[in-house]
Amino acid sequence: MKPKFQAVTGMHDILPDDFKYYEKIYQIAGEIAEFYNFNRIETPILEYSDLFVKSTGAATDIVQKQMYSLKTRGGDSLTLRPEGTPSIARAYLEHGMANWPQPVRLWYYGPCFRHEKPQAGRYRQFWQLGFEVIGHSGAIIDAQIIQICGNILKELKIKDTIIELNSIGDLMCRPHYRKLLASYLRSRESALCADCKRRIKENPLRILDCKEEKCQVVKSQAPQIMDHLCQECKTHFKEVLEYLEEVNLPYRLNPYLVRGLDYYTRTVFEICQEDKDGQAQASLAGGGRYDGLIKILGGKETPATGAALGIDRIVTAAKQADIKVGETKKVKVFLAQLGNLGKKKSLKLFEDMRRAGVSAAESFDRDSLKSQLKIADKYGAKYTLLLGQKEALEGTVILRNMESGKQESLKLDTAVAEIKKRIRK
Ligand SMILES: [Zn+2]
Ligand SMILES: [Zn+2]
Repeated sequence: MKPKFQAVTGMHDILPDDFKYYEKIYQIAGEIAEFYNFNRIETPILEYSDLFVKSTGAATDIVQKQMYSLKTRGGDSLTLRPEGTPSIARAYLEHGMANWPQPVRLWYYGPCFRHEKPQAGRYRQFWQLGFEVIGHSGAIIDAQIIQICGNILKELKIKDTIIELNSIGDLMCRPHYRKLLASYLRSRESALCADCKRRIKENPLRILDCKEEKCQVVKSQAPQIMDHLCQECKTHFKEVLEYLEEVNLPYRLNPYLVRGLDYYTRTVFEICQEDKDGQAQASLAGGGRYDGLIKILGGKETPATGAALGIDRIVTAAKQADIKVGETKKVKVFLAQLGNLGKKKSLKLFEDMRRAGVSAAESFDRDSLKSQLKIADKYGAKYTLLLGQKEALEGTVILRNMESGKQESLKLDTAVAEIKKRIRK
């Protein structure tokens, strides 16, 4: 029978064995962030709903269908963040980061929330890790962001990944393409799925990443944005590709990649794992340039670029890659106790070892010496301390070398100092 209380549908506990992977990813991301000069930022999980409506875009699936929103007692409409970038952009403006040396490089790691159909590897509370560079327009930064994502996956030994990318133009050239695409789509409207029919008016680019069987033919014959980029966007994209080639990062152009969010401009990319037939599976990382976002939120025109990595999916991939996580702690000394008085003195002795920086383990939940020694073996402890009734009365403790089996008696008061000397050898 199921227990009375269950986790909310689509949300999941991260149990200790899995958490080791989350920790490993955090550690690798932190090291990489430090090397590339990103500073850690933490924004609240709740934001005013308007922030996402304005930045992510009112016509996006996220805002229309997937936000967890609530009204507070005070009447504010708040939303659990569905993604990280809008919060970072909001913080950039709120704290006057435009006056900091540019570009500002920030990274984050935390949960996001979207009300989606739960399926394998997709949760309603999911973990994201992201990098944002605000205040620089150069193609080199786009390439570096892609490189950083690639490096994290590489460090985790995740194989068979492919970078897909596209340029979706800017405010100079996209409106023209959008019109062109919309008029083509109207001519084929009857062949589109219901969602796409609605998208023609609201967000025609979204049709390009529609997965419905029905829309594939229409998509394949649609005009491609690459043929309609303005000169600046063309040059920028060409530079991104050249940088990727320079650092030997293989990529694939994907004219259907649009990333679905309103704020993207120019470069958009995803890194996916491929199956053995070379088909792209769920994406592990994605992002792009968002030169318009800071202005949309009320700031000055500020170029920016960034990426987010889906940690839950990366954990799944890292498990398949069989990487080492959560190395068991190295224990030098195991403390075994026997009898009431022995147990009584043990708690303090164990604490003394912690203060002295001795890596130690115990098993106070057990009384039998035999079962305690078994655990000492499992830890691979070099020494075992035995504190029994007799020793407790005498104020001593027995130190046993687990390799040689040699035993000696130490004074309880000075035992920790003696042990420190022994393990230093
Ligand atoms: Zn469709
Ligand atoms: Zn352009």
